[in-house]
Amino acid sequence: MTDFDVAILGGGLAGLTAGLFAAREGLEVTLFDQMGPGGQLNNVGQIDNFPGFPQGTTGTELASNTAEQALNAGLQFQFGEVSGLATNENIWSVQTLMETVTAKAVIVALGSNFAKLNVPGEEKFFGKGISNCATCDGDFFRDEDVAVIGAGDSALDEALHLTDIVRSITIVNRNEDFTGTFVNREKLLSFEKVSVEHNAIVKNLDGDDQLKSITIIANGSEKKLDVTGAFVFVGLVPNSAILKELIAVDAAGHVECNLDMSTSQQGLYVAGDIRQQSSRQLVSVAGDGATAAISVRDYLRK
Ligand SMILES: Cc1cc2nc3c(=O)[nH]c(=O)nc-3n(C[C@H](O)[C@H](O)[C@H](O)COP(=O)(O)OP(=O)(O)OC[C@H]3O[C@@H](n4cnc5c(N)ncnc54)[C@H](O)[C@@H]3O)c2cc1C
Repeated sequence: MTDFDVAILGGGLAGLTAGLFAAREGLEVTLFDQMGPGGQLNNVGQIDNFPGFPQGTTGTELASNTAEQALNAGLQFQFGEVSGLATNENIWSVQTLMETVTAKAVIVALGSNFAKLNVPGEEKFFGKGISNCATCDGDFFRDEDVAVIGAGDSALDEALHLTDIVRSITIVNRNEDFTGTFVNREKLLSFEKVSVEHNAIVKNLDGDDQLKSITIIANGSEKKLDVTGAFVFVGLVPNSAILKELIAVDAAGHVECNLDMSTSQQGLYVAGDIRQQSSRQLVSVAGDGATAAISVRDYLRK
């Protein structure tokens, strides 16, 4: 006997969608998350590329609606940081800081965390000028000058959000061109208050109690930017540490899996940003959750 048919680790969109589908299959399903539901959705402002919302939606709206839908279907949501995962004779044990529960199958949807710049001043000024969430913190910088570090879609989305709030935005991009989509890039560059430093890396961040400036090296020359805010979006690090003893992960930490989201371990499935070759877009992340839940149903039937 196990406590649950399936335990889901992580309550972002992948985990919540897996929970919705698994519960609707009549499975006993629990989900652990160290925070409230939503994961990265809580950092996302406007969403214009999720099908079914012609006027777009917001991260918090999509998070709360999906959580409500999954809970209504029978998902049991539990707060708890997962600290370990083990298997013995096809029974999985999920350890949290408070308890250990058993399940016949596990879906790991732990997503990822923001990568760091690893430069002097980053730790000191985190929360004192440095942020990973323009949606949450942008308002602290009203009418001030800020930098956005990174030029992928997350960075461009967040910079777009800041255009309504701050006086100026300098994008610091380590490459020669943007990596984010054309639509985001064109929209952003239409604002006069936005400028870009291409081929630029951050050398260090300075200030007293709060961030006051950042020093960059742009095209080989050192340059000081007087900014009170720095929003850092330079990639994501998958939360796969607890899986490393169990299954293969690639050099970046993404988990190897099959098209049905199964892994090399029987009864262990993955979904969302944590898996290898994910497009890391909400629609595919939700699709992963649904696929994983349906695969678990088929596995348990066998
Ligand atoms: C700024 C920004 C803007 C974006 N904009 C868009 C957009 O417009 N359109 C789009 O399609 N995509 C967008 N994305 C990407 C999208 O948000 C992600 O692909 C998606 O949210 C990932 O979902 P996930 O469920 O895989 O992981 P996450 O959302 O990362 O969820 C993982 C969950 O696991 C939990 N967790 C982690 N470790 C533990 C642990 N040890 N114990 C318990 N719980 C744990 C976390 O608390 C979290 O809730 C954006 C991303 C960012 C950062």
